[in-house]
Amino acid sequence: MNFTVDELCRSKTAQRKGIDNTPTPSIRVNLEKLIVNVLQPLRDKYGKPIIVDSGYRCPKLNQAVGGAKTSQHLYGQAVDIHSVSDSVKDNKELFDLAKQMIENKEIVVGQLINEYNYNWVHISIPDGKHKNQILAIK
Ligand SMILES: [Zn+2]
Repeated sequence: MNFTVDELCRSKTAQRKGIDNTPTPSIRVNLEKLIVNVLQPLRDKYGKPIIVDSGYRCPKLNQAVGGAKTSQHLYGQAVDIHSVSDSVKDNKELFDLAKQMIENKEIVVGQLINEYNYNWVHISIPDGKHKNQILAIK
């Protein structure tokens, strides 16, 4: 496994603002699902490291970073990722691979979002409202 739950809870903003971003047991379960069902299969196929920007966000942290009020990040169901170079080209490659894996039914996601022209990639596990939605936010 290339990812840990702790890694998905780490946040520079939380650190700086003294926000305790410790997940509850049920949120931890979601983060484990996110790793096992989505992130790791993507990482295995990608064959290169994937950088995690932001996974779980407690309500205080979500507010501090201006996250949506219904964000799946609040439940440990979503993660923002990018390539090592963080270039548009390499982030697009990562996005396109995830998209292809969804289409080939190799992974089931909630949402896959190209955020601001491949600035980063948001990917989540399914919940009641989201399943295999592929979107772009401009
Ligand atoms: Zn996100």
